[in-house]
Amino acid sequence: MGKELLGLNVDTFGFEEAVQRAKNLVDGRKVAQIITINPEMFETASKDNDFANIIKEADLVIPDGIGVKLALKLNGVNTERIPGIDFARRLLDEAAVNNIPVAIIGAKEEVLVKAVQNLTKEISGLNIVYYHNGYFNNDNEIYEEINTKSPKLILVAMGSPRQEKFIYNAKKVLNPALMIGIGGSLDVWSGMVKRAPKLFQTLGLEWLYRTITQPSRIRRIFPTLPVFLIKSLTKRSL
Ligand code: UDP
Repeated sequence: MGKELLGLNVDTFGFEEAVQRAKNLVDGRKVAQIITINPEMFETASKDNDFANIIKEADLVIPDGIGVKLALKLNGVNTERIPGIDFARRLLDEAAVNNIPVAIIGAKEEVLVKAVQNLTKEISGLNIVYYHNGYFNNDNEIYEEINTKSPKLILVAMGSPRQEKFIYNAKKVLNPALMIGIGGSLDVWSGMVKRAPKLFQTLGLEWLYRTITQPSRIRRIFPTLPVFLIKSLTKRSL
Protein backbone atom coordinates (compact mmCIF):
# COMPACT_ATOMS: atom_id res chain seq x y z
CA MET A 1 0.00 0.00 0.00
CA GLY A 2 1.36 3.34 -0.98
CA LYS A 3 0.58 6.72 -2.46
CA GLU A 4 2.59 8.86 -4.82
CA LEU A 5 3.22 12.39 -3.57
CA LEU A 6 5.15 14.71 -5.88
CA GLY A 7 6.55 11.75 -7.77
CA LEU A 8 7.76 9.92 -4.67
CA ASN A 9 6.03 6.86 -3.28
CA VAL A 10 5.10 6.97 0.40
CA ASP A 11 4.11 3.68 2.04
CA THR A 12 0.85 3.93 3.95
CA PHE A 13 0.74 0.74 5.99
CA GLY A 14 0.26 2.08 9.49
CA PHE A 15 2.63 1.54 12.39
CA GLU A 16 2.25 -2.18 13.10
CA GLU A 17 2.31 -3.27 9.47
CA ALA A 18 5.37 -1.09 8.84
CA VAL A 19 7.11 -2.77 11.79
CA GLN A 20 6.34 -6.20 10.31
CA ARG A 21 7.68 -5.11 6.91
CA ALA A 22 10.81 -3.76 8.56
CA LYS A 23 11.35 -7.05 10.41
CA ASN A 24 11.07 -8.91 7.11
CA LEU A 25 13.83 -6.72 5.70
CA VAL A 26 16.30 -8.11 8.26
CA ASP A 27 16.60 -11.20 6.11
CA GLY A 28 20.33 -11.37 5.51
CA ARG A 29 19.93 -10.88 1.78
CA LYS A 30 20.85 -7.23 1.24
CA VAL A 31 21.35 -3.82 2.78
CA ALA A 32 17.81 -2.47 3.04
CA GLN A 33 16.98 1.21 3.51
CA ILE A 34 14.05 2.69 5.42
CA ILE A 35 13.36 6.39 5.01
CA THR A 36 11.16 8.37 7.38
CA ILE A 37 10.07 11.19 5.11
CA ASN A 38 9.02 14.72 6.03
CA PRO A 39 8.16 17.87 4.01
CA GLU A 40 11.71 19.18 4.21
CA MET A 41 12.97 16.04 2.52
CA PHE A 42 10.53 16.53 -0.36
CA GLU A 43 11.94 20.03 -0.66
CA THR A 44 15.52 18.71 -0.71
CA ALA A 45 14.57 16.03 -3.25
CA SER A 46 13.14 18.69 -5.58
CA LYS A 47 16.59 20.26 -5.80
CA ASP A 48 18.76 17.17 -5.53
CA ASN A 49 18.14 14.46 -8.08
CA ASP A 50 20.45 11.97 -6.38
CA PHE A 51 18.47 12.33 -3.18
CA ALA A 52 15.16 11.89 -5.05
CA ASN A 53 16.50 8.65 -6.54
CA ILE A 54 17.59 7.40 -3.13
CA ILE A 55 14.02 7.85 -1.90
CA LYS A 56 12.66 6.09 -5.00
CA GLU A 57 14.94 3.11 -4.39
CA ALA A 58 14.25 2.82 -0.65
CA ASP A 59 12.64 -0.38 0.62
CA LEU A 60 10.20 1.43 2.87
CA VAL A 61 9.26 5.12 2.96
CA ILE A 62 7.21 5.95 6.02
CA PRO A 63 5.29 9.17 6.70
CA ASP A 64 7.04 10.87 9.61
CA GLY A 65 5.21 13.85 10.99
CA ILE A 66 1.94 15.62 10.51
CA GLY A 67 2.93 17.40 7.27
CA VAL A 68 3.14 14.25 5.16
CA LYS A 69 0.03 12.81 6.82
CA LEU A 70 -1.86 16.01 5.92
CA ALA A 71 -0.63 15.97 2.32
CA LEU A 72 -1.74 12.34 2.01
CA LYS A 73 -5.13 13.25 3.43
CA LEU A 74 -5.52 16.15 1.00
CA ASN A 75 -4.78 13.60 -1.73
CA GLY A 76 -7.47 11.24 -0.50
CA VAL A 77 -5.47 8.81 1.64
CA ASN A 78 -6.01 8.44 5.37
CA THR A 79 -2.98 7.00 7.07
CA GLU A 80 -1.32 6.80 10.43
CA ARG A 81 1.51 9.18 11.19
CA ILE A 82 4.63 7.23 12.14
CA PRO A 83 7.07 9.32 14.17
CA GLY A 84 10.53 8.10 13.15
CA ILE A 85 11.77 8.13 16.74
CA ASP A 86 8.94 5.84 17.92
CA PHE A 87 9.44 3.55 14.95
CA ALA A 88 13.19 3.29 15.56
CA ARG A 89 12.65 2.66 19.26
CA ARG A 90 10.26 -0.17 18.40
CA LEU A 91 12.85 -1.65 16.03
CA LEU A 92 15.33 -1.63 18.93
CA ASP A 93 12.81 -3.44 21.15
CA GLU A 94 12.28 -6.04 18.42
CA ALA A 95 16.03 -6.42 17.92
CA ALA A 96 16.52 -7.05 21.63
CA VAL A 97 13.81 -9.73 21.70
CA ASN A 98 15.08 -11.43 18.55
CA ASN A 99 18.76 -11.28 19.41
CA ILE A 100 19.67 -9.03 16.48
CA PRO A 101 22.98 -7.16 16.80
CA VAL A 102 22.64 -3.39 16.49
CA ALA A 103 24.90 -0.51 15.41
CA ILE A 104 24.21 3.15 16.14
CA ILE A 105 25.92 5.93 14.23
CA GLY A 106 25.47 9.67 14.64
CA ALA A 107 25.31 12.74 16.89
CA LYS A 108 28.08 14.27 18.95
CA GLU A 109 30.25 11.87 20.91
CA GLU A 110 28.88 12.70 24.38
CA VAL A 111 25.29 12.63 23.13
CA LEU A 112 25.85 9.26 21.46
CA VAL A 113 27.51 7.71 24.49
CA LYS A 114 24.73 8.88 26.80
CA ALA A 115 22.05 7.62 24.39
CA VAL A 116 23.74 4.22 24.12
CA GLN A 117 23.94 4.01 27.94
CA ASN A 118 20.27 4.94 28.35
CA LEU A 119 19.06 2.54 25.67
CA THR A 120 21.12 -0.33 27.07
CA LYS A 121 19.66 0.34 30.52
CA GLU A 122 16.08 0.64 29.26
CA ILE A 123 15.92 -2.23 26.78
CA SER A 124 16.85 -5.52 28.33
CA GLY A 125 18.77 -7.81 25.99
CA LEU A 126 19.74 -5.00 23.59
CA ASN A 127 23.03 -5.91 21.93
CA ILE A 128 24.81 -2.82 20.57
CA VAL A 129 27.89 -4.19 18.83
CA TYR A 130 29.14 -0.93 17.32
CA TYR A 131 28.64 2.80 17.73
CA HIS A 132 30.33 5.88 16.31
CA ASN A 133 29.61 9.60 16.46
CA GLY A 134 28.25 11.31 13.36
CA TYR A 135 31.09 13.70 12.65
CA PHE A 136 33.36 12.02 10.12
CA ASN A 137 34.24 12.15 6.43
CA ASN A 138 36.03 8.82 6.12
CA ASP A 139 32.85 6.91 5.27
CA ASN A 140 34.73 3.96 3.77
CA GLU A 141 36.66 3.33 6.98
CA ILE A 142 33.43 3.45 8.95
CA TYR A 143 31.83 0.91 6.59
CA GLU A 144 34.83 -1.36 7.11
CA GLU A 145 34.61 -1.02 10.90
CA ILE A 146 30.89 -1.81 10.78
CA ASN A 147 31.55 -4.92 8.68
CA THR A 148 33.92 -6.31 11.30
CA LYS A 149 31.03 -6.27 13.82
CA SER A 150 28.26 -7.53 11.49
CA PRO A 151 25.26 -5.68 12.95
CA LYS A 152 21.91 -6.54 11.38
CA LEU A 153 20.09 -3.34 12.37
CA ILE A 154 21.88 -0.01 11.89
CA LEU A 155 20.45 3.31 13.03
CA VAL A 156 22.00 6.41 11.46
CA ALA A 157 21.37 9.79 13.11
CA MET A 158 23.26 12.39 11.09
CA GLY A 159 20.41 14.57 9.81
CA SER A 160 19.00 14.53 6.31
CA PRO A 161 20.14 14.10 3.53
CA ARG A 162 23.55 13.11 4.93
CA GLN A 163 22.21 10.01 6.71
CA GLU A 164 20.20 8.80 3.68
CA LYS A 165 23.27 9.18 1.44
CA PHE A 166 25.47 7.34 3.94
CA ILE A 167 22.95 4.49 3.99
CA TYR A 168 22.52 4.43 0.22
CA ASN A 169 26.27 4.22 -0.40
CA ALA A 170 26.50 1.44 2.17
CA LYS A 171 24.46 -0.79 -0.13
CA LYS A 172 27.54 -1.39 -2.28
CA VAL A 173 29.92 -2.31 0.52
CA LEU A 174 28.18 -3.36 3.69
CA ASN A 175 27.13 -6.84 4.75
CA PRO A 176 23.34 -7.33 4.68
CA ALA A 177 21.55 -5.25 7.30
CA LEU A 178 18.50 -3.08 7.77
CA MET A 179 19.41 0.61 7.93
CA ILE A 180 17.25 3.56 8.89
CA GLY A 181 17.92 7.29 9.22
CA ILE A 182 16.68 8.62 12.55
CA GLY A 183 17.55 12.36 12.49
CA GLY A 184 17.67 13.88 15.95
CA SER A 185 16.53 10.78 17.87
CA LEU A 186 19.83 10.32 19.72
CA ASP A 187 19.55 13.86 21.08
CA VAL A 188 16.24 12.83 22.64
CA TRP A 189 17.39 9.39 23.84
CA SER A 190 20.43 10.97 25.47
CA GLY A 191 18.11 13.20 27.49
CA MET A 192 19.77 16.35 26.08
CA VAL A 193 16.68 17.34 24.08
CA LYS A 194 13.21 16.97 25.54
CA ARG A 195 10.41 15.57 23.45
CA ALA A 196 7.12 17.44 23.38
CA PRO A 197 4.66 16.62 26.18
CA LYS A 198 2.27 13.75 25.37
CA LEU A 199 -0.64 16.09 24.67
CA PHE A 200 1.30 17.82 21.88
CA GLN A 201 2.30 14.42 20.48
CA THR A 202 -1.27 13.13 20.51
CA LEU A 203 -2.61 16.24 18.80
CA GLY A 204 0.11 16.02 16.15
CA LEU A 205 1.57 19.32 17.36
CA GLU A 206 5.08 18.12 18.18
CA TRP A 207 6.41 20.44 15.47
CA LEU A 208 4.82 23.44 17.26
CA TYR A 209 6.49 22.53 20.56
CA ARG A 210 9.86 22.02 18.88
CA THR A 211 9.60 25.32 17.05
CA ILE A 212 8.76 27.19 20.25
CA THR A 213 11.60 25.58 22.19
CA GLN A 214 14.11 25.79 19.30
CA PRO A 215 13.10 28.91 17.31
CA SER A 216 15.93 28.31 14.83
CA ARG A 217 13.74 25.52 13.42
CA ILE A 218 11.14 28.01 12.18
CA ARG A 219 12.32 27.65 8.57
CA ARG A 220 11.41 23.98 8.69
CA ILE A 221 7.78 25.02 9.15
CA PHE A 222 7.58 28.21 7.17
CA PRO A 223 7.54 28.35 4.22
CA THR A 224 8.42 24.64 3.81
CA LEU A 225 5.16 23.18 5.12
CA PRO A 226 2.58 25.33 3.27
CA VAL A 227 4.61 25.19 0.06
CA PHE A 228 4.79 21.40 0.33
CA LEU A 229 1.04 21.08 0.94
CA ILE A 230 0.17 23.30 -2.02
CA LYS A 231 2.61 21.48 -4.31
CA SER A 232 1.26 18.11 -3.19
CA LEU A 233 -2.17 19.19 -4.44
CA THR A 234 -1.13 20.88 -7.64
CA LYS A 235 1.90 19.03 -8.95
CA ARG A 236 2.42 15.44 -9.98
CA SER A 237 6.19 15.43 -9.73
CA LEU A 238 8.87 17.31 -7.80
N1 UDP B 1 24.65 15.24 13.04
C1 UDP B 1 25.70 14.37 12.85
N2 UDP B 1 26.62 14.67 11.89
C2 UDP B 1 26.55 15.79 11.12
C3 UDP B 1 25.46 16.67 11.32
C4 UDP B 1 24.51 16.35 12.29
O1 UDP B 1 25.79 13.34 13.49
O2 UDP B 1 27.43 15.99 10.29
C5 UDP B 1 23.65 14.90 14.05
C6 UDP B 1 23.30 15.97 15.05
O3 UDP B 1 24.23 15.95 16.10
C7 UDP B 1 21.91 15.55 15.47
C8 UDP B 1 21.36 14.84 14.24
O4 UDP B 1 22.45 14.63 13.38
O5 UDP B 1 22.01 14.61 16.51
C9 UDP B 1 20.35 15.56 13.37
O6 UDP B 1 19.67 16.48 14.01
P1 UDP B 1 18.48 17.26 13.31
O7 UDP B 1 17.71 17.87 14.42
O8 UDP B 1 19.00 18.11 12.21
O9 UDP B 1 17.67 16.06 12.66
P2 UDP B 1 16.23 16.04 12.02
O10 UDP B 1 15.59 17.37 12.24
O11 UDP B 1 16.52 15.70 10.60
O12 UDP B 1 15.54 14.95 12.76
